[in-house]
Amino acid sequence: SKFAPAAYSTAASPQPITNPDIHYTGIFINNEYHKSESGKQFETINPSTGEVITMVEEGDKADVEKAVKAASEAFALNSPWRQMDASQRGRLLNRLADLIERDRVYLASLETLDNGKPYTNSLNADVELTVANLRYFAGWADKFSGQTIQTDGPHFAYTRLEPVGVCGQIIPWNFPLLMQAWKLGPALATGNTVIMKLAEQTPLTGLYVGKLIAEAGFPPGVVNIIPGFGPTAGAAIAEHMKIDKVAFTGSTEVGHIIQKSAGASNLKRVTLELGGKSPNIVFKDADLEDAVEQSHFGLFFNQGQCCCAGSRIFVEEGVYDEFVERSVERAKKRIVGNPFDENTEQGPQVDEEQQNKILQLIESGKREGAKMLTGGTKVGDKGYFVSPTVFADVKDNMKIATEEIFGPVQQIFKFKTIDEVIKRANDTKYGLAAAVFTKDLDKANLFAQGLRAGTVWINCYDVLNAQTPFGGFKMSGQGRENSEYGLRNYLEVKAVITKLPVKNS
Ligand code: NAD
Repeated sequence: SKFAPAAYSTAASPQPITNPDIHYTGIFINNEYHKSESGKQFETINPSTGEVITMVEEGDKADVEKAVKAASEAFALNSPWRQMDASQRGRLLNRLADLIERDRVYLASLETLDNGKPYTNSLNADVELTVANLRYFAGWADKFSGQTIQTDGPHFAYTRLEPVGVCGQIIPWNFPLLMQAWKLGPALATGNTVIMKLAEQTPLTGLYVGKLIAEAGFPPGVVNIIPGFGPTAGAAIAEHMKIDKVAFTGSTEVGHIIQKSAGASNLKRVTLELGGKSPNIVFKDADLEDAVEQSHFGLFFNQGQCCCAGSRIFVEEGVYDEFVERSVERAKKRIVGNPFDENTEQGPQVDEEQQNKILQLIESGKREGAKMLTGGTKVGDKGYFVSPTVFADVKDNMKIATEEIFGPVQQIFKFKTIDEVIKRANDTKYGLAAAVFTKDLDKANLFAQGLRAGTVWINCYDVLNAQTPFGGFKMSGQGRENSEYGLRNYLEVKAVITKLPVKNS
């Protein structure tokens, strides 16, 4: 349909590999896979069944230490990486994109196995956006530059934009491949070296990309990839004295910890992409059918596991009842099941902990008096599925109105006036994204200015691409990813001032 959101590509997809072989489970340092120093391993679980897929090497402090050594050597001034032409860095990033494209069916299948997201999404959203992101940043490699500056006095002054150095990158489980690309693209385009910690729930695709990085021809030590847990491997990165920067995506709670660790150690640069409770405002003059579908997509996409999910839907009084009715109808039609089936729209949540957290929040919504009109249960007798859930008559102070649920649970609120809804939309500690649905240009522009969020979508939702910045106001984060702004987090500015000869005649 003409309203089909971008991530629901209808193009025929090549068939998935429902039982992909697992090739790489080691810690990737210096372009090779290693056993953990401690000898420990951990399980990664198929969220569709609850069964163990494979054991993975468990990285910890000692492994981070090894990775720091590799990344520091790769960053030394006379190293192949530092001596490489900028355009060649771009070529390597493009080659990596080519290899991911070559293996896209395998990677999308592996992503679906490890994370549970529908294969059609893995292939047409995650892998496709991953490739696009790497290509976008490949283009930047030789296109950023400093300035020449006019100064007082006989001096020639200019700025050089230089890589920050050894960068720690800690990523979450909701978009494993894509979050890896969002972090690697700008870091590598600008000439940094990387120590990346994958999420413990979803290590498999990120580890496979290690092999592709080596195959693309990146010098050893430029990218090091550590599977492991947050409080051990993640903390070792955040606290390390020889890591120059840390970039983190995940919960606001852990964002606090990362910021504190950076402050207490070497004041490493910190960028954070954290949680949200994004408002989505629907006016009665909007195309209602489209607004219902986009709002459904904006919340339920990726099993509701999106930091920018439109989880507070404010609907204008005159169309509230109809919007609620249609949203419930749509949610009831949502196809939940085996993520390898072509028609499946929703797979399992990533793990049992998330499933339980979501079910508890649903209970709190019922207890606090919100009206649950569909869903609210587990689905099936294995795996971590949750039925698409819709709450209406939600009040601003309820737990489901203020806490990030990170699951397939839609909250619908009623509003009367513009002033009221701007105030209520902004009354949150978060500020990641927001949307407004209206045909009135003045209203749309008012909200584009008035909403305190890093992204404002007008008559659309979840339009995310490499060219536009993404990040949070307030407690949703620090810094921006993607776009030219995303480069800034990975560059230091150096001023160079040269004395000019002064002739006295
Ligand atoms: P999390 O913040 O605990 O984990 C994200 C990453 O940080 C993982 O790689 C994890 O191992 C690491 N980590 C955890 N503790 C750490 C520590 N002390 N030091 C360094 N690294 C650490 O998120 P989660 O437990 O996977 O999910 C919990 C909630 O976080 C979710 O319910 C959701 O609300 C939110 N979340 C947000 C995003 C996002 O994209 N913004 C992604 C995933 C989860």
